[in-house]
Amino acid sequence: MRLVLVGPPGSGKGTQADRLVRDLKLTYIGTGEILRDAIRRQTPVGLQAEPWIRRGELVPDVLVNDLVAELFQHNRPDCFVLDGYPRTSSQAASFDALLKQQYLTLDAVINLTIADDEVVRRISSRWCCVNKACAACYNLALRPPKKIGICDRCGSALAQRDDDKEETVRRRLVGFHAVTNDLITHYRRQGLVRDVAATDAVDVIYQNVLNQLPQ
Ligand code: AMP
Repeated sequence: MRLVLVGPPGSGKGTQADRLVRDLKLTYIGTGEILRDAIRRQTPVGLQAEPWIRRGELVPDVLVNDLVAELFQHNRPDCFVLDGYPRTSSQAASFDALLKQQYLTLDAVINLTIADDEVVRRISSRWCCVNKACAACYNLALRPPKKIGICDRCGSALAQRDDDKEETVRRRLVGFHAVTNDLITHYRRQGLVRDVAATDAVDVIYQNVLNQLPQ
């Protein structure tokens, strides 16, 4: 099975990817994770990507396209789930060419859909422990700490990350839609898109994802 997962921040994309990897024995390819690791190791790609990631912008298409091409050329995965790539229609065109070169085809593009207001509600109710060694996160609506504002695990204060504040989340969502609409159109033309509502319970979403996969 070869899948691409698409969804805004807060759609639970990572959780769904984890389950698909576990149950379908897929190779997980997350470009965000690969880039963060490259930054930690200060590789040439990491050094180039760092300023964009720090500003919360997408890194240039060519950089991430080359990264994925290299990965496929050196270690061609047969079954995979891609998380965070392709992000733009231009990346999708590049990835189409790479797959063709590798005699591979995609089975589906799972499009996790959720209203912006729900994303904002979910993310802005996330508060995390300020103690970096702990960093436990709580959801004030779904999984609140026992004592308001205090971490259950280590007793430090909880705070909202700048990234999780409403205006930042809304700004990220505008950016997400601006590039994702074209990406989804690209894959709809190929008949690959499977829309799955990301508003149900995690288990229900996962079952719906599985139901949408080709046999
Ligand atoms: P993620 O963990 O998928 O949210 O990615 C973290 C950051 O890595 C993003 O904010 C981008 O700066 C960068 N990134 C990851 N994947 C891509 C991609 N396909 N195209 C451009 N930038 C990416």
